[in-house]
Amino acid sequence: MSPNTPGLHHVTAIAGDPQENADFYVGTLGLRFVKRTVNHDDTGTYHFYFGDGEGSPGTNITFFPWTEQGRQGRFGAGQTQTTAYGIPADSVDYWRDRLESKGVEFEAEERFDETVLRFADPDGIELELVTAPDAEFDATPWEDGPVPTDHQLRGFYGVTLAVDDYGPTEAILTDVLGYELEAEADGRRRYRSATGGPGSLLDLVETDAGRGQMGVGTVHHVAFEAESVEEQERWREAFADAGLAPSEVIDRTYFQSIYTREPGGVLFEMATTGPGFTADEDLAELGSRLTLPERLEDEREEIEAQLPEFDGPNVDSAGD
Ligand code: ZN
Repeated sequence: MSPNTPGLHHVTAIAGDPQENADFYVGTLGLRFVKRTVNHDDTGTYHFYFGDGEGSPGTNITFFPWTEQGRQGRFGAGQTQTTAYGIPADSVDYWRDRLESKGVEFEAEERFDETVLRFADPDGIELELVTAPDAEFDATPWEDGPVPTDHQLRGFYGVTLAVDDYGPTEAILTDVLGYELEAEADGRRRYRSATGGPGSLLDLVETDAGRGQMGVGTVHHVAFEAESVEEQERWREAFADAGLAPSEVIDRTYFQSIYTREPGGVLFEMATTGPGFTADEDLAELGSRLTLPERLEDEREEIEAQLPEFDGPNVDSAGD
């Protein structure tokens, strides 16, 4: 029997220019830049993490900015269509004004009993800010951020995955991951993880766009939270029992990961809650320097020399 997951741990996507990416997520959306490292599997590429004041699990969107590889992705089946952050119910007007003042075009809609503001980041990755009357969020505010703490993003609300056909993905969600179908409307099926809470929603939509292609402007994978290494091992067994091909456990410094591709084509990760982003930096210093896993410290000079130009996120003063 599988353990339960509280829901999302992080979402990882492919960006283009690292400067534009960081300026948008910190300067516009007001997330904290919690980690500046490299892709451990490709050290010529940065790996950025943006999250709440502590980079809590369930708040982090992370990026590989591909400057050399450059290949544009194409959205389609087997991909994450949108990543949604929760906002307080009375913050909709604030966010309408802020997006407008930053020149971000958005569409507003009502979905289920929520107000949704939908827009794209500079690389075309679709994001939503969602308010729901009964949403509970436990994100840690970033006191020094450009967005007043009352209005800051409260961690993930959920993700929308696009698939050819609900069936195979739904089976993994419900039979293995323990999600339950909660609602269906307007060509969208909504599932909630067994333990509920923030970041516990996952929507499926069917698309006839054909198979997506990974590249700049697409989401690479979604990670669910495993609350311990023991649970993670049980997840590995549960995935294997379901006929999937989970990876070995990989140490990502800030959490441990296993990966498996679900039958609809989306790459799933199970990431442990800890040790978290203070594993190699003090809370006050998060994101201020390039951190490397110990095995790469000897190569720091070469790694720094080949990384693309990036000056840290540009942030206007609070209240701007
Ligand atoms: Zn990941």
